[in-house]
Amino acid sequence: MAQVSGFRAAAAFGVVALAVVSAPLACSTSRQSAPQPAYYPAPYPGYAGTPGYGPPPPGAPQPGAPVVGPPAAPVAYDPINAIDIGYLRNQAQTTMAELVNNLPALQQSRVRGIPLIPDDEVGEVNAFAACTQGGKSVMAVSDGLLDVAAHLAQARAIDETFGLRKVDEYVSFVARNQRPKSPVVRPPPGFFDPGQTMDGRKVQRQHQLLEETLGFVLGHELAHHYLGHLPCTAGNVTASEIGRVLTDVVPAFNQQFELAADMAGINNVLTTGARRAGYHYTEGGALLTMQFFGGVDQLSPIDVLFGFELTHPPAGIRTPVIQQTANAFRATGGQGLPIFGF
Ligand SMILES: [Zn+2]
Repeated sequence: MAQVSGFRAAAAFGVVALAVVSAPLACSTSRQSAPQPAYYPAPYPGYAGTPGYGPPPPGAPQPGAPVVGPPAAPVAYDPINAIDIGYLRNQAQTTMAELVNNLPALQQSRVRGIPLIPDDEVGEVNAFAACTQGGKSVMAVSDGLLDVAAHLAQARAIDETFGLRKVDEYVSFVARNQRPKSPVVRPPPGFFDPGQTMDGRKVQRQHQLLEETLGFVLGHELAHHYLGHLPCTAGNVTASEIGRVLTDVVPAFNQQFELAADMAGINNVLTTGARRAGYHYTEGGALLTMQFFGGVDQLSPIDVLFGFELTHPPAGIRTPVIQQTANAFRATGGQGLPIFGF
């Protein structure tokens, strides 16, 4: 536990700490060394026959399916290729607003106006839902998580476009090289082929992947708020309260809440995807996230590298929940499974 900073280290003792803090979080600290299932299988059963919404339109590939499209002009500059943190923070805000707009009215009323706070703590890779000491709801996403999501989107887009295994290589690179409380490691120049990096189809695809990845991460945290897992409500939050959230809060342990938030988050992402013009979000971003944290957990010589691992259940538990929820969403025409806590 020495690898994480003070309040985050306390996550491991969340059950005890919960009694003495006034602003608990709702992400679990459970970790297990269960065998990791194969992530990101394709195609998903049930995806083709989606009652209610019809088949996915052109441009909405099944998770893991190769991108099929005409060659597009090379893209000289792309903010995901450049890991432009300002762009990524803004994309997180945009994605969260889109998720909120596609929630049922009651849930929407519980989370409208909740601020998404950027967290620039060095080496922190996490997102969380929290309460201020004044009982107001907030969410936070770290720059480190945005950095990882941008690399994963690039790697997956290259894999799909060119038939490579750059996601596996990136996960292995991070697991071997990341050190606690150090800046999130980035692959060296040449890790991504420059020509492939600029490929127009690949660049278009990485934007889809980034958005549905952020959609899952933020949809999960939003769900903690509208499912009532936290003792706070939406309202005006002051700057000083925001500062305190990033330094004082302690995650609490509740695996049932975690899995409910995964189910609700997936339903939120898929509903948003089904209703939007252009690309229809899938659970692919969620499974990409699980592939990363599950792989790092298995391959790193260090027990815990990231706050995300302390505050969420292990990927081996979450992955089948994500897959079953997405399949049920499609099989029920967008109704989904009943969720504990609703
Ligand atoms: Zn959670």
